[in-house]
Amino acid sequence: MAQLSDDCFAFGGPMLSVDEAVAMITSRVTAIAETETVPLRDADGRVLAADLLAPLPLPPFTNSAVDGYAVRGADLPTDAERPLLVAERVQAGASARLPIEPGQAVRIFTGAPMPDGADTVFMQEDVRLDEAGHVVVPPGLRPGANVRPAGEDIASGQAALRKGCRLRPQDVALAAAFGVQQILVRRRICVGVASTGDEVVTPGQSRGHAQLFDSNRFMLMAMLARLGCDVRDLGILRDERAEVAEGLRQAAGQCDLIVTSGGVSAGEADHVKEGIESAGSLVLWRMAIKPGRPVAMGIVAGTPLIGLPGNPVASFVTFVHVVRPTVLALAGASQTKRVALPVRAAFTYRKKAGRREYVRAHLQRAEDGVIEAIKFPREGAGLLSSLVETDGLVELAESVTEVAFGQTVDFIAYESFM
Ligand code: AMP
Ligand code: MG
Repeated sequence: MAQLSDDCFAFGGPMLSVDEAVAMITSRVTAIAETETVPLRDADGRVLAADLLAPLPLPPFTNSAVDGYAVRGADLPTDAERPLLVAERVQAGASARLPIEPGQAVRIFTGAPMPDGADTVFMQEDVRLDEAGHVVVPPGLRPGANVRPAGEDIASGQAALRKGCRLRPQDVALAAAFGVQQILVRRRICVGVASTGDEVVTPGQSRGHAQLFDSNRFMLMAMLARLGCDVRDLGILRDERAEVAEGLRQAAGQCDLIVTSGGVSAGEADHVKEGIESAGSLVLWRMAIKPGRPVAMGIVAGTPLIGLPGNPVASFVTFVHVVRPTVLALAGASQTKRVALPVRAAFTYRKKAGRREYVRAHLQRAEDGVIEAIKFPREGAGLLSSLVETDGLVELAESVTEVAFGQTVDFIAYESFM
């Protein structure tokens, strides 16, 4: 299990900015060291444990990019068409028997190796055959045209995939193109997820009048699964200090990271803080983010713990900004650069300087063709429909105090958080 010293997160200062909080946490968690070998079929989404060096060039041999006729560059006509003798025929998977002689062409198909001596291919659409069976080629083709040289994609020995990348389907394809069957990845990190609160019940249980079904745990487990974690369902912890402490203590021995939701405010029934304090050590850390704060960070028996707020939208937003980078750091994955899309705000907004805010919005193409962000009409941090009916978050930096209608703002799609 990942181990952290108890003073890792010791911090007593003022409210942290999102960037400070994330830098603090990601610079202090150590990636798990264990690796395993998985067959290529199971490699999607896994974290590559070592650079993958190209064992062969891609393409492995120089070949034709089109169906047509391979010729010698020296035979290319410059001002009038020229008949060439068709010496042989090479399909993909076969090789020419003889080198090409001056005045000859070789009928060739896409992916077939270039005959020795040939360096240029005419597309079949650009030539004609004469009565004698010669291929008549036009002037003006550039030497080297329609040929894919060996190694033009990737040179042998090149670091084709970097350690720490989370493998995507195209990365898996590249490994397969090298003939790789097994790939060395980090083991999945195990993340335990608990909800807190006397008012929260699991779907399937009977719900009292004053209770609601637990949505956060299922949202958080789904997000963690998308990040490639092994997820452990820790259920619901009652609003009781000893139960929270015991639940966290047990989970710490089984997980690399614990994520909880609810119970982190300063209210009387917010027992996560005290629970962490009795099971380990706590740094209650208020982050300058809306919707969001408070977020609690703690260490229980060497295992990091992040306590997210209970309101589902606050839970979601703080997950993507705090838990996600922590998961990537623990898993040994590179932090992916998030590229925001500049869109036109179809809303006005006012905010306080000094904190980062996220506005739920959906995108729509306006009549003039520009993509606009339409703000969800209500603001509550408890409105799940606000996440369901929108496409992503407009990010408003700490320094921003106002968004004017029509202004360009940064939009981040939900997909890019997964
Ligand atoms: P708390 O942070 O515990 O004060 O909770 C804030 C709000 O979020 C309250 O209205 C809770 O009922 C609600 N809440 C807490 N946990 C969950 C959960 N797991 N699923 C849905 N709502 C929750
Ligand atoms: Mg609560």
